[in-house]
Amino acid sequence: METHKGDNPNKYGSSAPNLVNRQTNAKDTVINVNGIEIGGEEIVIIAGPCAVENMEQILETARAVYSGGANILRGGAYKPRTSPYSFQGLGEEGLRYLSQARKETGLPVVTEVMDTREMELVCKYADIIQIGSRSMHNFPLLKEAGKCRKPVLFKRGLMATIDEYLHAAEYILSEGNREIILCERGIRTFETSTRNTLDLSAVPVLKRQTHLPVIVDPSHGTGHSWLVPAMAKAAIAAGADGIMVEVHNKPLEALSDGQQSLYPEEFVQLVKDLDKISQAMGRRLFLHKSLLA
Ligand code: PEP
Ligand code: MN
Repeated sequence: METHKGDNPNKYGSSAPNLVNRQTNAKDTVINVNGIEIGGEEIVIIAGPCAVENMEQILETARAVYSGGANILRGGAYKPRTSPYSFQGLGEEGLRYLSQARKETGLPVVTEVMDTREMELVCKYADIIQIGSRSMHNFPLLKEAGKCRKPVLFKRGLMATIDEYLHAAEYILSEGNREIILCERGIRTFETSTRNTLDLSAVPVLKRQTHLPVIVDPSHGTGHSWLVPAMAKAAIAAGADGIMVEVHNKPLEALSDGQQSLYPEEFVQLVKDLDKISQAMGRRLFLHKSLLA
């Protein structure tokens, strides 16, 4: 970490709690998921639909993101929707489809858990469990995630300060799980031209205050697919260890978040651009073997 004489990394806002704090753990935490290192030198790309909708959709999208250069497949089986009448996700059936997509492509999967009662089930299927923005303050869920043996992709709450976010992460760490990936996904401000305000300054702040990997989700961060490439590139330039983007084989037919989902061809172009930005940052993309061959 870059240090400046007389400068305290925690001086803006209150200090990061003990276990997440870089001052107590100076070394970067690197999380290994089936050989993919998150938080190391290489940039990791997580891609897939907002929700798992059916077998064909997840398989087609998984194949497309795999051949486009994704390292990890995303897709929700339990969806936190604003309206109780909107598609809520397929539950365990969706988890089974994700397993099938992992079997076909070899991509590890990340999927959200919303309820302590489903923790065991989700852990059985997922390679990484996701705790979504709306659950950031669900302390019983955080404690359960702390007890499970899977890495946690932990999203910043949409109204959370960085200090609150890091204290919430501390809940997971303090229960024994040290494998946490932080994710900036936009916060709620007065601005209405984007779905959320993507706080890219959170990236260097989090990297400075903690030893945990930091990724950015420009899909929920902006809410518009046309904005995703610019903000994904900016995230890597700001020092993020990876990005998570929504990609759908047919965005116009998506049951959730189609307007912010990239077409597979747009994703392919984005990965090419991210490769250049990564190199400019002295890093490189974690490309899987099929693309290196
Ligand atoms: C998601 O990634 O599927 C999601 C619901 O995001 P967030 O929790 O950031 O809204
Ligand atoms: Mn979504």
